[in-house]
Amino acid sequence: VIIFLSLIVSRTVTVFSFPDPSVAAQEAWSWEQYLTEQKAIAAPVELFSKDQSFPEHENGFQVGMRLEGIDPRHPSVFCVLSVAEVCGYRLRLHFDGYLSCYDFWTNAGSPDIHPIGWCEKTKHELHIPKGYRKDKFVWMDYLKACKLQNAPKKLFRNRSSNGPMPKEFQVGMKLEAIDRKNPSLVCVATIADIVEDRLLVHFDNWDDSYDYWCDVNSPYVQPVGWCQENGRTLIAPQGYPDPENFSWTEYLEATQTNAVPAKVFKMRPPHGFLPSMRLEAVDRRNPRLIRVATVIDVDDQRVKVHFDGWDHKYDYWMDADSPDIHPIGWCDVTGHPLEVPYRANDVKILPGQAVCPTPGCRGIGHIRGPRYSGHHSAFGCPYSDMNLKKEATLHDRLREQTQAHLESDSSHSKSKNLCSLSFNGKHEKVNSQPR
Ligand SMILES: [Zn+2]
Repeated sequence: VIIFLSLIVSRTVTVFSFPDPSVAAQEAWSWEQYLTEQKAIAAPVELFSKDQSFPEHENGFQVGMRLEGIDPRHPSVFCVLSVAEVCGYRLRLHFDGYLSCYDFWTNAGSPDIHPIGWCEKTKHELHIPKGYRKDKFVWMDYLKACKLQNAPKKLFRNRSSNGPMPKEFQVGMKLEAIDRKNPSLVCVATIADIVEDRLLVHFDNWDDSYDYWCDVNSPYVQPVGWCQENGRTLIAPQGYPDPENFSWTEYLEATQTNAVPAKVFKMRPPHGFLPSMRLEAVDRRNPRLIRVATVIDVDDQRVKVHFDGWDHKYDYWMDADSPDIHPIGWCDVTGHPLEVPYRANDVKILPGQAVCPTPGCRGIGHIRGPRYSGHHSAFGCPYSDMNLKKEATLHDRLREQTQAHLESDSSHSKSKNLCSLSFNGKHEKVNSQPR
């Protein structure tokens, strides 16, 4: 590992030059030199999970390929997706029939994506492209009629090596789970689905936007009775008649359900990230970008990342097992541009050139999503104060079914529909059902 790391840190990273190659000079930047300069250390590669670490396979996906996958905003929903962009080991995925403001980035080895036909095979409901009839949608006809290509099976990562789900975990069983959007809350939850080595956690009587997938060793899931044993408050299901006096015994009986047996929970050891460690992290305000970042704080399940050279107002917490953090050298190895630390004197502005006024921002990306590749003003900037303060929540894709007139890409610029970047920070306000 040490040899491998020293190999990759000694290679240089070319500064991604966009939108104007003359602005960002093709300067060489290297992790090795940077760490020495900063007297900093890299987060050891052993701290990263398989989904975060260096991939074992190339990214073979191509733009236009069709696949099935989870909607990150509705984790219980499987959709028809297409590859809109390929960058290094990452993909921008598009929901067929929807605006590109709902597109999202994922890793090519993500467990959230599957080849076409997977839903049918595994008896999951497939949410078909808008405009098609549920009973009339046939993948092969769709591909043929639209002259589309499916993503071949061999491009998807085989996860069987992680071993199957222990048979004690079954759909419908109850457990106690941490609400990842509000990590101080432990709530009554149900296993809503099981796929390969992961389970879908659903909070009883809450909408599915709180759902999440995790593996059985995740510190987010605990057996029934865990709160009582550990002196924590268990949040009863929404609408429970006497939430202060929630009783598992009564609830299991009333719902005719079983608890996952406590003995099958094996919590993984704590993550080993420590403050001041350097890594590469996806910038979720502008998710096409991966930046040089520092861990500046940690708690049991999370790390707080700071983007080197940027103001601390852009720091935020991420799950320690998030697939969006990577060991140093990951971008170089996978062929993804790395956004290197911003230094004021690096910026060379040509006379008359329109540039974004936000310090550090090179005008890449747009608050309204990938339809606009860049911006020249605070209005479009994902980092400007006006956009940080704004409740930058995306309209719900699944609640816009009736707004067919927004479908056409060409009409978008005239539409008043704000499709802004979704940023769920630590102090987010949940618009549908505040907890
Ligand atoms: Zn900007």
